[in-house]
Amino acid sequence: MSKRKDWDTYFMDIAYMASTRSQCGRRHVGAVLVQGKKLLGTAYNGAPMGLPDCSEAGCMLVEEIELKMIEEKEEVIRKQRCIRTIHAEQNLLLFTDREDREGSTVYVTDQPCWTCANMLANSGITEIVFHRGYPKDSEKVSSLMEARGILFRRMDAYEPPQGTITEVVN
Ligand SMILES: [Zn+2]
Ligand SMILES: [Zn+2]
Repeated sequence: MSKRKDWDTYFMDIAYMASTRSQCGRRHVGAVLVQGKKLLGTAYNGAPMGLPDCSEAGCMLVEEIELKMIEEKEEVIRKQRCIRTIHAEQNLLLFTDREDREGSTVYVTDQPCWTCANMLANSGITEIVFHRGYPKDSEKVSSLMEARGILFRRMDAYEPPQGTITEVVN
């Protein structure tokens, strides 16, 4: 017998469904805006309208340097990142109204990066719920949310719906 889905699962499932629209082969991210129990918007990471996306033009990669402590030694790690797309969280802000966002919750498949977190922190929302972690920015994003009094929580036991692409290229 199937159990009725709780609201967290319901909205995270919708975020994952939105992520299936993404054409970036590196990461499919979906985000939804929820006010009370009402869905006010959905978004995914994608190129601006009318421009070729990653599946047509390939990812637009930049290299970034990350410092990481490995066995008590700071090491330089080179990582590639695709910058062709507007992140799901930013698209969500572009397509929703400030008024609607006041006191609302964002469900997002992935822990927001620093830039998205900064924008979300100033967007009127009061809660962020995510599933997959993004360790690179995790610490600074968590302290930002704490400083802003925004609830920031991860759904640890959540399982994404079948048919969504959950592999991530780091
Ligand atoms: Zn891409
Ligand atoms: Zn982002």
